[in-house]
Amino acid sequence: MFNGIMISFDQALAKILRHATPLSRETVRLTDATGRFLAESIIAAEAAPRFDQSNMDGFGVRLAEVRRAGRGSPIRLPVSQIVAAGGPMPSPLQKGTAVKVFTGAPLPRGVEAVIMKEFCVEQGAHVLVTGPVARDENIRRRGCEYARGATLLKPGTPITPPVAGLLASLGRTAVRVHIRPRVALVITGNELATPGRTLRAGQVYESNSFALASALQGLGLRPISSRRVRDNKTTLAVALDHALGLADVVITSGGVSVGEFDLVKEVAGELGVRTGFWRAAIKPGMPVYFGIYRLEIPTKTATKRGDSGVRHKLVFGLPGNPVSALVVFHQLVQPALQQMMGQRAPQRLRLQARLATPLRHNPGRLEWVRGVLEIRESALWVLPTPCRESHMLTGLANARVLIEFPASATTLCQGSTVWAEWLQWG
Ligand code: AMP
Ligand code: MG
Repeated sequence: MFNGIMISFDQALAKILRHATPLSRETVRLTDATGRFLAESIIAAEAAPRFDQSNMDGFGVRLAEVRRAGRGSPIRLPVSQIVAAGGPMPSPLQKGTAVKVFTGAPLPRGVEAVIMKEFCVEQGAHVLVTGPVARDENIRRRGCEYARGATLLKPGTPITPPVAGLLASLGRTAVRVHIRPRVALVITGNELATPGRTLRAGQVYESNSFALASALQGLGLRPISSRRVRDNKTTLAVALDHALGLADVVITSGGVSVGEFDLVKEVAGELGVRTGFWRAAIKPGMPVYFGIYRLEIPTKTATKRGDSGVRHKLVFGLPGNPVSALVVFHQLVQPALQQMMGQRAPQRLRLQARLATPLRHNPGRLEWVRGVLEIRESALWVLPTPCRESHMLTGLANARVLIEFPASATTLCQGSTVWAEWLQWG
């Protein structure tokens, strides 16, 4: 194991995020916006609701006229109007009468409460009210959700289903978002065979391009290029150069460790990629490499991506072990991609749980042990999944969380409280 000083996870993430600047903006249709991040503030052009409306199917009344109503002493009122949702604005409520209303219907002026249909008895053109009501009961008053001019959503908000719904409720059909980063994959390894083909002796199926494409898909991205290369400097250089030409983010798999076939750092360096860091005090994923490729784009060749001036393309060298590749993607690459898409503060969803089985490790690296959560007698427990090694994809495939095993500790006792980070693939 490498014993030199390695960058910590927090330092590695901070360094990456310093270089992951938000990309330029574009307008997309609301139906295509899910998974993107707002690149504008959403301000209410109108109050909501826009008019006083009923929150129930029932009868609108004046309070004074039903104050004495009770189970044994119902009040009988003539029904002077019927107002359905979507109808024209009704005329004011006549004294001594009730109005029949439906959920969402505009309320006549003078209605002080709506009594639910369930608490009334209809008698032809009259209604029997069997109990008193409070002021504004079952009424949605104009502006009770927000006033005109209110800030409803801030830039950086992820466009989730309720955000899409809210934008549509404002009458919007399009929204400003940040453009998507172009991501290229370069997969290295002489031993790799394409799934579906017959394996020769010593070969393994290439799975990282599939896992990484799936992880990108979770973010609404797809690789613009995915090339597989042998561990050979010339072919790797051609593939990396091609990827750097096309993409904002280049993700490589394999070839970042200390073996003779680990050529990614060297070849990237020869192509002008500056090393941000190599090796971090994490497990899995220690050999991770991060590079920055500085590109100056003359103004006259700037495209709609707004990329004139200096831009930084990011290079992530993921270790080839399938668990390492995905865990490093989750912990370091995904936050960078989200920030490039406009997310303001990358959120890591961590919660505390009690450890169901003891864990040991050699101190020195922050370890993310794959696990699942379980509720036992109202307490939250976390259980490590079997197969803890970096080449054992089953351990990650069956996990929902990453248990944080601090770098300084050697043991975590059964029953101790630990942090568990939710695996959010997008
Ligand atoms: P490397 O990081 O290139 O030294 O690879 C570490 C381990 O991960 C080796 O056992 C490789 O066979 C395996 N590996 C590397 N790349 C892939 C890949 N794309 N798919 C599946 N396994 C891989
Ligand atoms: Mg390799």
